[in-house]
Amino acid sequence: MGSTQDKLMPVPAEAHGRRLARLRTQVLEAVGGVIDTGVYHAGPRTAELEATAQQAWGGHPIAASSGTMALESAIRALGLGPGDEVIVPSLTFAATAFAVAATGATPVFADIDPVTRTLTPITVQDVITERTRAVVAVHMYGLMADMTALMPLATNKKLTVVEDCAQAAGATCDGQYAGTIGDFGCFSLWVGKNFGSLGDAGLLIAKDSEVLPTLRMLLNLGRDKSRDIHHRHGTRGRIAEVDAAVAALQLPLLQGWIDQRRAIAQRYAQAFAELPLVLPADAAGRRHTYYKYPVTMEDDAEADRLHTTLTELGIKIEQLYPYRLEDQPAFENMSYRAPDTAAAGRLLPRTMCLPIAPELSEAEVDHVISAVLSCY
Ligand SMILES: *Cc1c(COP(=O)(O)O)cnc(C)c1O
Repeated sequence: MGSTQDKLMPVPAEAHGRRLARLRTQVLEAVGGVIDTGVYHAGPRTAELEATAQQAWGGHPIAASSGTMALESAIRALGLGPGDEVIVPSLTFAATAFAVAATGATPVFADIDPVTRTLTPITVQDVITERTRAVVAVHMYGLMADMTALMPLATNKKLTVVEDCAQAAGATCDGQYAGTIGDFGCFSLWVGKNFGSLGDAGLLIAKDSEVLPTLRMLLNLGRDKSRDIHHRHGTRGRIAEVDAAVAALQLPLLQGWIDQRRAIAQRYAQAFAELPLVLPADAAGRRHTYYKYPVTMEDDAEADRLHTTLTELGIKIEQLYPYRLEDQPAFENMSYRAPDTAAAGRLLPRTMCLPIAPELSEAEVDHVISAVLSCY
């Protein structure tokens, strides 16, 4: 067990507060610049963010007010609605399925691979029906789903593919960036993601430029040129200039932060190699960005023990996410229920995320390592 000294050093689960504190000068300058310009929406900062994303990743990026709105607008742009089924993984943030349900389409939950924790062609194939129109591949914890394997299945079944990149900005699959392989890539720029805004924001990458006018219209309450004409049922989905400015200044720093996350992950992997834990890692052709560092214990008792020990030592660990989405009350009345998602159900209660962030000190990482080792 740890010494009293260990107890004095709390390690946060998330460290974006430290990130913003370090960027304080640049952030205040960016906010000041917006006030000086006097343009609060659809101005130069939004254009800069979109251009920076285009340079970094390619495709046709459009900024949005949140990851949820990016997802919802992508599904709407596909013309999906009541009677259409959209496959989503059982393990993801609720927003993925809410974005589908908001359009009137039915989210259908598919199981995940127990090691990569993402959809696979087999789990997707399991829930395809004649009503399936699209699949939302969620790149979970920072690791992309195997898009190289999923795309041929989608093409074969005539399914549209939306990538939920909220947790995996800057991740790659066979050399291609998250969000540029499917028809749409949707990112969250929530302040706590691997890079972000000052509050809530999002980004959408369209593969096909023809859909851009529709997306812009959907994110602007259905308006086009005139502020008085609403052509379609849209949403208030625009990004604020201050959020765009803060995200634009962080995006060029992202790959460096990912390298720092990967260095911590490497230390964890070395330290825990002999323990009976399933650790996150790169998968064939796919580079992990470690938004989170999920470890899966052998059984519930061991998970409880680890949780108690680390909590006593001041280390904040998160369960992301404790429940399968189809078990949430919000989805219990769905008319269509997918086959039991077995792997996700077994995995979630025994999975916990250890602190990982570029802002953690060497001593904090050491503290996490010795705390976990002390459990065995
Ligand atoms: C954060 C997140 C979202 C939603 O993004 P917001 O910007 O919070 O609306 C969607 N999907 C996943 C997997 C997420 O982690």
